[in-house]
Amino acid sequence: MSAPIPRLRFAPSPTGYLHVGGARTALFNWLYARKFGGQFLLRIEDTDRARSTEESTRAIFEGLEWLGLAWDEDVVYQGASFERHRADAQRLLDNGTAYRCFCTQAELAERRAEAEARNESFKYDRRCDRLSTDEVARRVADGMPFTIRFRIPEGTTSWIDLVHDEIEFPNKDIEDFIVLRTDGTPIYNLAVVSDDIAMRITLVMRGDDHISNTPKQIMLYRALGAELPTFAHLPMIHGLDGKKLSKRHGATAVSDYQHLGILPSAMVNFLALLGWSPGNDIEVMTQAQMIELFDTAGLQKKAAIFDPKKLEWMNGQHMSLIPSDELVARIVPAMEAAGLATAAELEARREWFVALLDLLKVRARTIDDVVRQAGPYFRGPIDYDPDAVAKQWKDRAGTAEILAAARDVLAQLASWEPAAMEQALRALAERMGFGDKAGRVFQPLRVALTGLAASPGIFDVLLLLGRSRALARIDDALGYLRAGTGSAAS
Ligand code: GLU
Repeated sequence: MSAPIPRLRFAPSPTGYLHVGGARTALFNWLYARKFGGQFLLRIEDTDRARSTEESTRAIFEGLEWLGLAWDEDVVYQGASFERHRADAQRLLDNGTAYRCFCTQAELAERRAEAEARNESFKYDRRCDRLSTDEVARRVADGMPFTIRFRIPEGTTSWIDLVHDEIEFPNKDIEDFIVLRTDGTPIYNLAVVSDDIAMRITLVMRGDDHISNTPKQIMLYRALGAELPTFAHLPMIHGLDGKKLSKRHGATAVSDYQHLGILPSAMVNFLALLGWSPGNDIEVMTQAQMIELFDTAGLQKKAAIFDPKKLEWMNGQHMSLIPSDELVARIVPAMEAAGLATAAELEARREWFVALLDLLKVRARTIDDVVRQAGPYFRGPIDYDPDAVAKQWKDRAGTAEILAAARDVLAQLASWEPAAMEQALRALAERMGFGDKAGRVFQPLRVALTGLAASPGIFDVLLLLGRSRALARIDDALGYLRAGTGSAAS
C-alpha cells in the first residue's frame, strides 16, 4: 500500500497581524506539502470570538499571498464547527473518557489560591468525577451549569517528534483538563484535535510552545478512536539578544517587511533558515530550490535567531538574482511613493528604467536603497553629500577647472556612448597632466552628476542621465563651486 498523501495545516488565531513566527511555521508546512506531493491547508482558529477579528483574518490571507504560500482547498474556519466539537465532547462523555464538572470558576480560583498559599501546585482534585450517577443526573435536571473534563488515564504519553525525537510526559503531571466550557464552546485542545481529525491531517508542524499541549491532544485522539498524526515542533524565534522575538526587537509583522521594501522571495528564503538548514552552507535559494532541498532532517531544535541585517543581506542577494524586468513591478510603487516618477512615466521609458535597475540593484540591499540611489536620475537639482564634497571637491577652484573642461569634452562628443566618453575623458586627464590617474576627473564628476561619492560606473551614469541632464548637472556643480570660492568668476 502506498503511503497516504501528506496533509498539513497552518492554524493561526486571527487575533493580530501575521507574525514572522507564524509565517515561518506556515512556510515549513507549505514546503513539506510541496516537496512530498501533499496538501497545505489553512485553518483560521477563530473560536475566541472576543479577540478574533476579520481584519486579522484578512492580514493573514494577505501575508500568505504576498509570500506566495498558496493553500489548497477552502479555508477552514474553526468557529464554523462548534457542532462537531460539541458532538466530540459528548462522545467522550458517552465512552466514559470524560465527565461533567460542576465546580464554578470562583470555587476553582479559591482552591487554587489555597494550594498556592500552601506552596503546592494546583491540580483539579477530580471531585466531580466521584459524584454518583444519580447526583449528576439530578444536577443536570436542575439546570446546573457544567464543563466537560477529560479524565487523564494512568501511565505516560510519548511520541516521536520529527524535530525532538522521543518526547515523554508522565500523565500524573497533567490535570483533568476542560474540553468544553459551560457555554458549550470548545477549549483549544479539543477544537484542534476535532478539526485535525476532520481535516485528515497527517503531520502537525507547529511552534514548540505547543509541546505541552501535545500529550493532551494525543490522549484525545486515542479517546476519540482516531489515528495519530505525526508531530514536529519547530524552534522558537529569538532576537539577537537571545530573548523571544517581540516588538522590542523591531518589526515582527510580515506586512512591515513588505512595506520596508523587502522582496517576498527574500523574506521566504530568510524565514526558511529560521529553524531549518539545507546543509552544505547553502543559504540563498529560489523557491524551487527550497522545495527541492527541504527535509525534516534539517530541522533544528535550538532557537533560531532573527537578524534583521541578515534579512537585508538576503534581500540584496535576491535583488541580484531576480531579472530587473521582473523587479520593475515591485519597485514602481516605491518610486511613485517617493515622488520620483509616475508609473506611466516609467512605463514609457521602461527599457531605460530596466537598464537603470540593472546598475543600481547590485549596490542595493532593499527596494528603498534602489529608490534612494535612483533620485539623481530623476530629480532636477540634486543635493551634494557633504562627505563626498569634503573628499572629492576639496580644491574648489581646481575642481571647477576640471569640471568645466569635462563639460566641454562631453558637449562635443559626436555620440553619447560609453566608449566615446571614456576615450575623451581619459584624453582630457592626460592633457591636464594627471597621466593615467583618470579618477581625478571621474571622481569629482561623479559628485557633480549624482551628489554621491559612490555610484555605478561613471560612463553608465552619464549614459542613463542623458546628455542634456548630465551637462545641466555639471553646470549646477560649477555654479556651486564658484559661488563658494569667492573667486572673480562667481
Ligand atoms: N492556533 C494556534 C496558534 O496560533 C495553533 C494551533 C496548532 O497549530 O495546533 O498558536
